[in-house]
Amino acid sequence: MSHLAYIGIGSNLGTPLENCQRSLNLLENHPEISVLSRSSFYETEPIGPQDQNWFLNSVAEISTDMEPIPLLDALLAIEVAMGRIRKERWGPRIIDLDILLYGNSVIKTSRLEIPHPEINRRRFVLAPLAELVPKLIHPTARKTIQRLLSELPEDKKVVRL
Ligand code: AMP
Repeated sequence: MSHLAYIGIGSNLGTPLENCQRSLNLLENHPEISVLSRSSFYETEPIGPQDQNWFLNSVAEISTDMEPIPLLDALLAIEVAMGRIRKERWGPRIIDLDILLYGNSVIKTSRLEIPHPEINRRRFVLAPLAELVPKLIHPTARKTIQRLLSELPEDKKVVRL
């Protein structure tokens, strides 16, 4: 069965635009993933340590037959293929791929939390997601993406390219 999911994409090392585009190509080339659409790219102020570059963020809408854990493993494999080395939390990264939403599923295990717990708080996720699916209802917050975005306090800067 095919599932609709939303993947958060971010990079702030090397050439972020090329990194994000490459990760989209790798997603598209995966035999069990179809990229249906993607948002604009956004330049976004980092959360966490401030002595790092701004991020480039986007969100992809995909369709996949994979269950959530195999999908997570596929995203991690793309991160590894692109040379990501995990160091500090919220630190700089070549590529970061997150499962934001997976249909209406609500999952909370030690390895995987869906909806991604950061969605509701992060403009760099809500702004691109709202471009794709403003009226989609967040499965646990029970509000539309548009509403969650409008309710965010003025916080980190996000600039649509
Ligand atoms: P990070 O790349 O630093 O955001 O952390 C990645 C780790 O977060 C993964 O190895 C997952 O086990 C865990 N994780 C929990 N929920 C999610 C999710 N919805 N999408 C991606 N990774 C997740």
